[in-house]
Amino acid sequence: MAGPPSLTFLGAAGTVTGSKHLLEADGRRILVDCGLFQGLKELRLRNWEPLPLDPATIDGVVLTHAHLDHCGYLPRLVAGGFRGRIFCTPGTKELCSLVLPDAAHIQEEDAREANRHGFTKHSPALPLYTSIDAARALTQLQPVGYERPVPLWESGQGQRIVRAGSDPGLAPTVEFINAGHLLGSAYARIRIGGRTILFGGDLGRYDRPVLPDPSPVAEADILLLESTYGDRRHEADDGGERLGRIVTETAQRGGRLIIPSFAIGRVAEVLYWLKRLEEEQRIPVLPVYLDSPMAIGALQFYSSRLNELDAGFANSVSGPGIRHETPGFRRVAAFATTRLTTVASPQQSADLVASRQPSIVISSSGMATGGRVLRHLAATISNPKNTVMFVGYQAAGTRGRLLTDGAKEIKLMGRTYSVAARIERIDSMSAHADVGEIMRWLSGFSRPPRMTYLVHGEPPALSALAATIAAARWPVHVAVHHERVDLPT
Ligand SMILES: [Zn+2]
Repeated sequence: MAGPPSLTFLGAAGTVTGSKHLLEADGRRILVDCGLFQGLKELRLRNWEPLPLDPATIDGVVLTHAHLDHCGYLPRLVAGGFRGRIFCTPGTKELCSLVLPDAAHIQEEDAREANRHGFTKHSPALPLYTSIDAARALTQLQPVGYERPVPLWESGQGQRIVRAGSDPGLAPTVEFINAGHLLGSAYARIRIGGRTILFGGDLGRYDRPVLPDPSPVAEADILLLESTYGDRRHEADDGGERLGRIVTETAQRGGRLIIPSFAIGRVAEVLYWLKRLEEEQRIPVLPVYLDSPMAIGALQFYSSRLNELDAGFANSVSGPGIRHETPGFRRVAAFATTRLTTVASPQQSADLVASRQPSIVISSSGMATGGRVLRHLAATISNPKNTVMFVGYQAAGTRGRLLTDGAKEIKLMGRTYSVAARIERIDSMSAHADVGEIMRWLSGFSRPPRMTYLVHGEPPALSALAATIAAARWPVHVAVHHERVDLPT
């Protein structure tokens, strides 16, 4: 006989990565999000620990969005025997088709490097998962449009444990609601055993140019809420003024502006602002290089789903005015600055690194933990003419955090470089709600959930948000890694 419905926090509890929330109810197991741990080594090592349950016993997975810290463990789950469906929105499915094979490629490369240089206790070092695992995970994705509740499984099928008193005829459902955080991003509303459980995923922001506002939700019995910026307010939107100043000053020094950026999502907003500043003649027109094949692919998905983006943005770009005829370019024209070049091949990327032409280079990864941006940083970071501008959350342990905290030297690809370039950080392009926006979203609830569990935050943010929510007389609990809680009735 199954116990009472419960949640077990298998990731993003007390930290911002590795989101995995196990819901057990009516004898079923549903994993909501299946993310990689990133950042500090002690966190990354968790990706190698076995889950406290057999992946084959999970009935279904529900994905809130396609950021790696929410979906990047899927291939490992599949390699471990998970054969069920992975529910997500169509936009999330598209972005997963970019990020999962890429993540597998990086895992394979890392293992190859470790074997080549012998810096491994394991012989041979193995990747966390392979390209084959990633391809297989993609075949299990089950796209579901927004605001269309669908059954999590056929009633009566696949149920291993029938809970006494449960009604097998009442099919549990999942429904996705726009979260405004990334193309395809959603809260997942699961109705099971007479309860409504809202998994907030990552909460987007209000009044941003590319993505729509997070949709309001009126009620839930149980809420999981992210807390990334639970202790902070983003700087006020300055209409691109600071970005304009950074671009202009770097151009005046004859330098290069390097923007490490998350390949999916953030690039769209960075390009939006550069394009707008150019159109308003507030910055000089510079060559802009987008050096990230994944970012180019993601922009094409954004451009093909304009109806899911901010209405004002979609209207402003859906008319004529496509000026570029290069193959592949037409489909990112909505985001094209005057002199945008998309850099596809590694050779083109190497040529760009070697060139000293004043320009703007957008490349991933966003926290400078890997990817092509490392070579751009190595080539520019020791020269005071240049600027490195970070545009999002920088997790503890990443190069992005070290640099924005003022590091005087930095290790890149095995060498130490002195930091002489100007280091900037623009917070207003964050994709995560700040505490004011979180509270604004919560104010849409007609009654407090019976319990709100706080996840996806570092400890100071979690405790600050818990205090803010408790002050509004909402029951609130900060989730602990591997903690299992019975859901209140
Ligand atoms: Zn996210």
